[in-house]
Amino acid sequence: MTDSANTTLDPAELEVRNPATGEPVGTVAVTTPDEVTATVRSLRTAQKRWESLGPAGRKDWLLKLQDWVLDHADELADSIQAESAKPRVEAEVEIAFTVDLLGYFARNAGKFLADTHVSPHSPLMRVKKLTTAYKPFPVVGIITPWNFPLGMPAADLIPALAAGAAVVLKPSEVTPLTPLVLARGWQEIGAPAVFAVVSGGGDTGAAVVAESDYIQFTGSGRTGRRIAVACAERMIPYSLEMGGKDPAIVLADADLDRAAYGIAFGALCNAGQLCVSVERVYVEAAVYDRFLEKLVAHVRELRVGRDDRTGSFDIGPLANEAQLAIVSRHVDEALAAGAQALTGGKPTGTGTFYEPTVLVGVDHTMSCITEETFGPTIPVIKVTDENEAIKLANDSIYGLSASVWTGSVSRGQRIARHLDAGAVNINDATINLFNFALPHGGWGQSGTGYRWGGADGVRKYCRKQAITAPALPTQKKEMLWFPYDMKKFGFMRGAMRAMSARGSRRFK
Ligand code: NAD
Repeated sequence: MTDSANTTLDPAELEVRNPATGEPVGTVAVTTPDEVTATVRSLRTAQKRWESLGPAGRKDWLLKLQDWVLDHADELADSIQAESAKPRVEAEVEIAFTVDLLGYFARNAGKFLADTHVSPHSPLMRVKKLTTAYKPFPVVGIITPWNFPLGMPAADLIPALAAGAAVVLKPSEVTPLTPLVLARGWQEIGAPAVFAVVSGGGDTGAAVVAESDYIQFTGSGRTGRRIAVACAERMIPYSLEMGGKDPAIVLADADLDRAAYGIAFGALCNAGQLCVSVERVYVEAAVYDRFLEKLVAHVRELRVGRDDRTGSFDIGPLANEAQLAIVSRHVDEALAAGAQALTGGKPTGTGTFYEPTVLVGVDHTMSCITEETFGPTIPVIKVTDENEAIKLANDSIYGLSASVWTGSVSRGQRIARHLDAGAVNINDATINLFNFALPHGGWGQSGTGYRWGGADGVRKYCRKQAITAPALPTQKKEMLWFPYDMKKFGFMRGAMRAMSARGSRRFK
């Protein structure tokens, strides 16, 4: 990373700008595909030692990185704010999230990666001891978007390293600076050279897909599909987390204050640029007016602006002009089709700020309800009852997460089972993301595979190996080995029938 300023930009460099002011905050050299190849080659070599350290050895390095992150929290938060201009609290949350993830996976990977033993499926196989062992993919390629410059890379990097894989990370070209700070931290603690950051756009990302043994991608559906095709060509596994259009359902028995505060937070934190952001709200008719009144009053209180280290603003800018254009289009199309903005409804200030916006009079023909907005908008729809809310909530190509706001947790539990979403929060929003023991993954066009969570979050970066071993002293020959003999086979068949068939078929 070099400081930029007024020098002419080399095409082989990325210029990073603060979206609140447009001012340049740094430049980064673009990694060429050949350099990606060389990087992956050296990661592949270093990975062998990393794997051989075992979970206990790797835990030490991950906890040293945790110390480093805590000791460099201000530098990391400054870097996040420089390239995203998000409020200080949101930058600090990324650091807390990273620290928490490091502790969780460092301390639990040993348990998650331990051999597992299962009982044979049939008494005939009791002569075998069965083991599943977990062997890491040598090099995991991680490709991330711009909404959390530290949190996004950390979410995938940490479980992959804990699994024993080496990682080549290709962060978004919009926010490439903070991942380089983290990579510097990995070097400064003296950890094995199994984590490298490569910088650039689609060409660099494509080179990562071409060289790695497993791909973890987060970003748009369009790019996700291209990556899936490229991985299929190479026959390598992948996991994709793509967009979302997460519904919130507010029922008449809900605590309306909590629902209004929680939905405003779920929809507007990170200026709505969060994969599990609340993107549409269905409210039972009986409480529609009262809920809207509370929601609009709260949204109007929020402070929009460029934050500094004091944390005096709630809503930061959108990541770039392209994102501002998407949000503006969704709102403008809705307004042109007869919707109303009860508050907000347009860009504000300099840079890429957009007013937090509550829309009513919207329906399922409008882009603000059907497409991922990824911005500070809250479209609200009145429904007659729970059934209509569920039907409309499920009327989407996406299925990342959802929330249900109700006075009855058991009612919320029941409704959750009817929602087509990878996660459901009852009387809360986005909180599934911070519960690392749960799976995190999208249904439908929101993705394939699960991004992290519990034992599977580490095991996904491993190939499973099935091992059979004799549980008893062995004979010179097994009954079914050559030469074939119908009598011996008949005995085996009889035993199999007796043990697994039903009724009189057991004894034929
Ligand atoms: P994107 O899909 O264009 O980029 C995501 C990452 O993929 C970046 O690192 C990019 O350089 C890389 N990439 C692009 N082309 C590639 C290729 N051919 N091979 C490999 N890597 C490639 O997404 P974006 O421009 O960052 O955001 C666009 C939209 O995606 C947003 O408007 C939003 O709807 C959605 N998004 C979703 C999430 C989420 O968390 N689910 C996060 C950010 C953005």
